Amino acid sequence: AKAEGRGMLRAFEPRMEQEVRQRREIEVDLQRALRDNELTLFYQPQFSTDGHTVVGFEALLRWLHPSRGLISPAEFVPVAEQSGLISELDLWAVRRACEQAIGWGAGRVAVNLSPIDFRMPDLADAIWRILEETGFPAERLEIEITENLLLGNQPEAFASLTALRNMGVRIALDDFGSGYSSLGYLRRFRVDTIKIDRSFIQNIGKTDDAAAIIDCVVRLARALAITVTAEGVETREQLRYLQSVGCHHVQGYLLASPMPVSSLGRYLDQLRHA
Ligand code: C2E
Ligand code: CA
Ligand code: CA
Ligand code: CA
Repeated sequence: AKAEGRGMLRAFEPRMEQEVRQRREIEVDLQRALRDNELTLFYQPQFSTDGHTVVGFEALLRWLHPSRGLISPAEFVPVAEQSGLISELDLWAVRRACEQAIGWGAGRVAVNLSPIDFRMPDLADAIWRILEETGFPAERLEIEITENLLLGNQPEAFASLTALRNMGVRIALDDFGSGYSSLGYLRRFRVDTIKIDRSFIQNIGKTDDAAAIIDCVVRLARALAITVTAEGVETREQLRYLQSVGCHHVQGYLLASPMPVSSLGRYLDQLRHA
């Protein structure tokens, strides 16, 4: 049994080493990517729930790798979080989004921040400088954070969030409902927007629970004057349900997928004529 155990260990070792090496490779590659401008932002339009009016866009990172093609953030964001490169990436994304969206004339742009970014004591200052340098109005910038951040109870995080809100930047709570005891956070920190996690949206018409929870979240948010965005809307049935419960905004493949800036034209026209 002992020999067998050792054999198993040996069989697992190379795979772990391989994973570590792959992660290290992505990390080095990512540093180069940042330098060589291989990162880009795609934008996904957000609509009022009637589906006709564009209200803004969510910026989503993409890596245009010279040999591997388009790499999803699901692959490189976790590596960047582990290596500490994430804050550089995220501040790059904020700056790029402000530079690009200022030309759109109207509408909000939402950028995702990692909980790790909030370990920077001067995060709010860094964002303030970006707004100053790009001339982008704070009111048109929305920062998307996740429940994990509020769960962590880092005093620096609350300080940065408060400073951002005082500057006029909007705060959205992303993936709402996917974590723990979400309602308590709404008392501890006031957000402007709640984004209902797409797992609930995708269960509309499948489980009664999902529909009941969405209805309840929308009522609660409305009572607190918080805007509700439903994400991952893929079917007409889902959209109809969200309209019926009074959800404010919708985002999802049914209406528009994330796209490069060069494809945004018709959405920007809608934005300007809304
Ligand atoms: P997220 O913030 O929850 O972003 C929404 C994700 O859902 C995006 O995936 C989007 O392309 C996808 N999506 C949009 N509509 C639909 C739909 O109708 N159905 C389905 N199934 N999916 C839809 P994406 O772009 O691959 O991003 C994945 C995650 O990577 C994001 O999830 C976010 O957590 C992270 N991420 C993206 N950009 C950044 C960034 O600049 N900084 C940080 N820290 N994280 C980022
Ligand atoms: Ca998001
Ligand atoms: Ca989300
Ligand atoms: Ca997410």
